[in-house]
Amino acid sequence: MGGRSTPLSSSYPKLVERPVGKQIESIYTGRLRQFTDRGQYYHQGLLAKLYHNQTNDSKYIKLSVYSPPDLTRPTFKEATSQKFKPARLGDTFGPSWSTHWFKVQLTVPKNMLNAEHLEFHWDAGNEGLVWSEDGKPLQGLTGGGERVEWILPQDWQNGKEHTFYVEMACNKMFGNAPGGDTIQPPDPNTYYTLSQADIMDVNLAVRGLYVDFWEIGDAAREFPEDGWQRHKALQVCNAIMDAFIAGDGSQESILKGRKIAQEYIGKHVSSPTVYDSKEESIVYAIGHCHIDTCWLWPWAETKRKVVRSWSSQCDLMDRYPEHRFACSQAQQYKWLKEYYPFAFDRVKEKVKRGQFQPIGGSWVEHDTNMPSGESLVRQFLYGQRFFESHFGERCQTFWLPDTFGYSSQLPQICRLAGMSRFFTQKLSWNNINNFPHTTFNWVALDGSQVICHMAPSETYTADADFGDVVRSVSQHKSLDQDNTSLLVFGKGDGGGGPTRDMLEKLRRLRGMADTTAGGVLPRVHMGNTVDDFFKRLEDKVASGTDLVTWYGELYFELHRGTYTTQANNKRNNRKQEIMMHDIEYLATLASLSSKKYQYPKKEIDELWENILLCQFHDCLPGSSIEMCYDDSDELYAHNDVVGTKLKDNALAALGMSKSRTASQDCETVAINTLPWDRTEIVKTPGDGYTVVHAETGINSTDKIELLASEKATVTEKKDGVFVLANSRFAVEVENGVITSLFDKKVKREVIAHGGKGNQLVLFDDKPLYWQAWDVEVFHLNSRKELPSGRTEIVDTGPYRVSVATKTKISDQSWVKTTISLDAATGETDSPSYVSVEADVEWHETMKFLKVEFPVDVFNTEATYETQYGLVRRPTHYNTSWDMAKFEVCCHKFADLSEANYGVSVLNDSKYGFATCGNLMRLSLLRAPKAPDAHADMGHHTIKWAIMPHAGALSAETVHAAHNFNNPLSLITINNEQEPDEDIFTSIVVTGSSSLVLDCVKRGEDDEDVSRGEFDKRKGRSVILRIYESMGGKSRGTIRTTLSVDKVFKTNVLEDDLQELKLASGEVEIELRPFEVVTYRLQLSS
Ligand SMILES: [Zn+2]
Repeated sequence: MGGRSTPLSSSYPKLVERPVGKQIESIYTGRLRQFTDRGQYYHQGLLAKLYHNQTNDSKYIKLSVYSPPDLTRPTFKEATSQKFKPARLGDTFGPSWSTHWFKVQLTVPKNMLNAEHLEFHWDAGNEGLVWSEDGKPLQGLTGGGERVEWILPQDWQNGKEHTFYVEMACNKMFGNAPGGDTIQPPDPNTYYTLSQADIMDVNLAVRGLYVDFWEIGDAAREFPEDGWQRHKALQVCNAIMDAFIAGDGSQESILKGRKIAQEYIGKHVSSPTVYDSKEESIVYAIGHCHIDTCWLWPWAETKRKVVRSWSSQCDLMDRYPEHRFACSQAQQYKWLKEYYPFAFDRVKEKVKRGQFQPIGGSWVEHDTNMPSGESLVRQFLYGQRFFESHFGERCQTFWLPDTFGYSSQLPQICRLAGMSRFFTQKLSWNNINNFPHTTFNWVALDGSQVICHMAPSETYTADADFGDVVRSVSQHKSLDQDNTSLLVFGKGDGGGGPTRDMLEKLRRLRGMADTTAGGVLPRVHMGNTVDDFFKRLEDKVASGTDLVTWYGELYFELHRGTYTTQANNKRNNRKQEIMMHDIEYLATLASLSSKKYQYPKKEIDELWENILLCQFHDCLPGSSIEMCYDDSDELYAHNDVVGTKLKDNALAALGMSKSRTASQDCETVAINTLPWDRTEIVKTPGDGYTVVHAETGINSTDKIELLASEKATVTEKKDGVFVLANSRFAVEVENGVITSLFDKKVKREVIAHGGKGNQLVLFDDKPLYWQAWDVEVFHLNSRKELPSGRTEIVDTGPYRVSVATKTKISDQSWVKTTISLDAATGETDSPSYVSVEADVEWHETMKFLKVEFPVDVFNTEATYETQYGLVRRPTHYNTSWDMAKFEVCCHKFADLSEANYGVSVLNDSKYGFATCGNLMRLSLLRAPKAPDAHADMGHHTIKWAIMPHAGALSAETVHAAHNFNNPLSLITINNEQEPDEDIFTSIVVTGSSSLVLDCVKRGEDDEDVSRGEFDKRKGRSVILRIYESMGGKSRGTIRTTLSVDKVFKTNVLEDDLQELKLASGEVEIELRPFEVVTYRLQLSS
């Protein structure tokens, strides 16, 4: 080839026009702040343009107020029928917890009559609720700028006067703590100033641009430096600012700014269509409002927080169709239904539309460490029945973002309550080890599993910020299996849940991912449910993904003080759980024995609902303010009164009426409500003791003389040294502590060489911050033995011997411990143990009282009773995971055993324990000063027992711990009755001693029991709940003399799952290790 070609011509300018410099990133990023500045550049920036007009002129806003007396919280009707006095901006209202009703008479001024969007802004620094003139609760308000606007109805732009009300509550989101320290006890004298009551004419374009700029600005600041998306974001933001300045902040320049923003976030961010793109999203945004059922405020305020928050959410749903709001706690729904039927109907309508999503399946978001197995079952039974009967569906996801550790049987109980999914996140607060999974299978003691997801954004009150979405991947720990996650956002407690800004931000973030940042910003979606999220996971597992597993408890490495704080509340919980066992058992028998007796379902429901309420995760753990414990004390006291009556009524129906005329002979009988025989020394009326060999049911308390070999004796060996002995043990008490506990049968010393059993010890207890919640590891360094005073003999035998010792703690505080040993008779059905009763007068500050048992037993693991089973934990500090468990939760006993011998420590009301090497330590009392300045001050009675046993840990300890907590109850009845003794043996479970018949009740929907929530079930049925307590497959037989038609295995919701073979009144059963099974015996009609 040859020849010449014509040179290419180019339009590219040949000569440079001007110098252009490279942008210095830090300067151009730093500049962005000016645009939305609230300080010196405010008037030159975007925010100064936010309102076309505004007024607080009393010509347009007439305020008057009614302040109810004595901190009462009257209803709308009561309040609005009172006389209102004039009020004005700048007035101050209080004190803490008081209520003030404002009548607002509002006229839209002429210059706003054609406004695009009018709002009423109200801020008094506290919480409020907007009511319509005719008494409909419309929307919540939270002061301090948290949620201050209420959108005025369009038809109010007519120049006429319109009336509405604001119910002001004198508390902030987090109560009334003084200063900035949220957990300090509330100041009773907080006053609030009404600082804003304005009509605002909003410039919606400015509001839109503000959020556009916020999110793109975050992209400019937070995207990776080596990615182009960060640079592009910075250019877009600077271009918006340049346009604004060039246009002098005109409306036109604002609209231009929005147009520029579209280059980065797309065209659809002003509507829900932004979510219509088909791109796959991995972050599921779910609105939520975590309302603590009590905490830094009492229940009465929670009822109002609920209506405020949920009304706000219903309002948002009208304007944001994509908005999905998951909301737990049946109790809160029940309050709403009872006190605010209009708001409840509104919620129901949103549930129907799929926007408001009931979730959780439980009565409240309860503590899971301390409630008994039966309590956990009832949380779900009452919760699921409420949800199903009101919304037509049961929950599939157990929702518990904020409780202090998760006990090992929850997956099993969830599965039995119809839930295969579990959401939480609190373990992100661990202060020792980082929990390694985000999405995994959590496995119970019996092998049952649920899919557990812990939000990687590590919060359940996210602001739906750019960073929350980014962290949904960057902190996701299960990406090998799955990259999806939940983003749970919305202000908690009094904040009322998601805000308009949050929903707007999410639209931008989705638009951004679809337009520019798909590779670097996780794509977020709104419009799905929590169940959609889990369903996708379950499908993925079904098609072959193996989720990582976690077996056993999800121990929380923080808040270990909550096993001990507010001792009285915990004691009430334990006592009432036992009371409920007895009431349901006796009432069931009574309803079978006597046609005239009506099973008191309504009362039982009420008692249970009260107990379940008090198990809320700030109530039972002890982390609420003093007012909350006044409330729970009152509820427990009420339960005691009603419970005693129910028990008496059931006993009377069984032929054991307490009422008698003076002429009638009487007899004292001992009732054994536990499903096994037991021998117990009981105190009979008068001053005497006797031994009762009790079968289940009614037993005589006639005096039985002891054989010489069975008698308990006490001697003062030398001055101050006492020996208590029975046929099993010789116990030496010196200086008030047990220096020797000798097992005569096995010929073994139980106390470690030189050790002091039952030694009271005091620790300094100042955790890093959360006083009522935490006991921190360093408290162990401050151990101080409390020296005992004189010891005296109290009981001299032969049934019971005891010695009492008074120990001084300080000038204000003391403990009187009575160490007792009962006669051990030839019977073998009850083991012998050394029991201790402590009376404590407690007035300390930030101290922790414990009692120690150094035992001559070696094992690297100790065993603790938990719900329906046992949990083993290390006695050493090998790893940081082991050491983190320096204080753990136990139920009725803790045990340290070797292969052939061990020691169980039983308790009647305690939950905190530690086993360090061979030192067993029961936690007794704490003295935190926040958030309750008087927590645990005063008198306490605590019982525990030291029970050495030959052989490894066995069902003997399980039974003994039940017996210890539920002693034979003695009642005096008139002799002319004929108690129905046979009914007590009408249902028995025989077989493996590890099978515990833990609950006997009537069927929820039996036709004579049902309260009508569901279709009645024909005839009568008896529900039995049995669990395997030791961890071994076990067989047994249910024998009944009742005329039973059919027997079903059911779930805890009492759905029949499987019919079992019934032959001659017998049903063979077999349970997996630690399995819980519910049986339903359908009686012949
Ligand atoms: Zn909470």
